[in-house]
Amino acid sequence: MAGRKDARHVSVATIKDDHNRILLIEDSPAMTMLLRQRMEEETGADVVCCDSLASARVCLQTQQFTLALTGLNLPDAPRGEIVGLLGDFGVPTIVFTAIFDPEARERYAEKKIIDYIVKDGKRTIETVLQTVSRILSNRAFTILVVDDARSARSGLVEILARQNFRVLEAHSGKQALEILEAEEIIDLVVTDYHMPDMDGYELTRRIRETRSSEEMRIVGVSSSNDRWLSASFLKAGACDFIYRPFVPEELQCRIDNNIETLKQIQRLRYLADRDYLTGLSNRRCFFEKTKQMEEARLPGQCSSVAILDIDHFKRINDTYGHEAGDRVLKMVADTLTEICAPAKHFAARLGGEEFALYLRNTDAFQAHSFCELIRQQIEELVMEVNKHEIAVTISIGVVETETGESFDNNLNAADQLLYLAKSNGRNRVYSTLTLPEAMAAAKSSAVAELF
Ligand SMILES: [Mg+2]
Repeated sequence: MAGRKDARHVSVATIKDDHNRILLIEDSPAMTMLLRQRMEEETGADVVCCDSLASARVCLQTQQFTLALTGLNLPDAPRGEIVGLLGDFGVPTIVFTAIFDPEARERYAEKKIIDYIVKDGKRTIETVLQTVSRILSNRAFTILVVDDARSARSGLVEILARQNFRVLEAHSGKQALEILEAEEIIDLVVTDYHMPDMDGYELTRRIRETRSSEEMRIVGVSSSNDRWLSASFLKAGACDFIYRPFVPEELQCRIDNNIETLKQIQRLRYLADRDYLTGLSNRRCFFEKTKQMEEARLPGQCSSVAILDIDHFKRINDTYGHEAGDRVLKMVADTLTEICAPAKHFAARLGGEEFALYLRNTDAFQAHSFCELIRQQIEELVMEVNKHEIAVTISIGVVETETGESFDNNLNAADQLLYLAKSNGRNRVYSTLTLPEAMAAAKSSAVAELF
């Protein structure tokens, strides 16, 4: 779940991975050059350019396109014929046009284009880029449409699918709840009000028992004449409400606003959880997530927690400067990420040169050897700074978490073992398995008293 959400925040990278191809049809060479360059830079998509209906036809016959961006009047097609051609090939189309009037708007709606952009000077390029990015990133969002009337439902599905969303359908409130139970990745629900088994108000209320508006947006739709309905829906936890009949463009704008809100919330949450320097989770996020993971741990399932610290880190900063110190922190963090990823262990930077690991389904023996593997890998790393080779070592304290003991106490025990590892020579892993050795080596009785 976390991985999926995180992936969205690097939306440009995600889009690049998808190998999107955009067909740009425009007869002005200057506009073509500018748009192509900006779109390739900012969305990572391949942009194929054409300057006429004839050349566009050749491209459409030979290549597949994620979407098309087209001017309306071309030298060999002065009356917007290009939109018909793109429609024939089923390519989702964004039109940009010099003039905007109500008649043109209706004509575009009929041709089922995704969106249109009015050329109004300076903002045009930015608007085009925002629209293209939005359409491409919509693919990462799933919308569930709930309506008992088949035609109303398919109308909604069509509008949303055209916007490149992943769309699921339910014909009743009960089915909607079943889908929500089975699919944890639904971002937005559009629900009708009047449905035989459960009305949209009740469905909204039921969804909100488990999912907040920060996780899932709900938009109510109804053809009712009851003007109080929108307020009831919003009070039950819906984020928006639309009376039928609606203009498709209005629905699209409201959905876009809700998805945008969701993206911003996710982005803020991502940043709030992150350690800026290393990109690992931060201290607050570590305590929050491990608390949840410990609570979700089933009886008989084990877990372990480790604290690790870079040995003599201050010397690196003092000798080579803080920039070198930062690079060492980053290098250690990257190594932890790489080693932890396959087993879905959780790594965080607690602060300074101190890191923590939460090891899922890992008992004391497995945890000790896992930490030993990390210790060895870090020891083998060499970083070059100003022609100096820097190598670092780490010390680790690790314990299997004891059920019935508070997580803080478990963490404390790991911390005390780390302290022993440090005082007994560094570059070593201490766990409850090595405790006798640690105790024997501990010179000060103050250390021994810790246990
Ligand atoms: Mg209905």
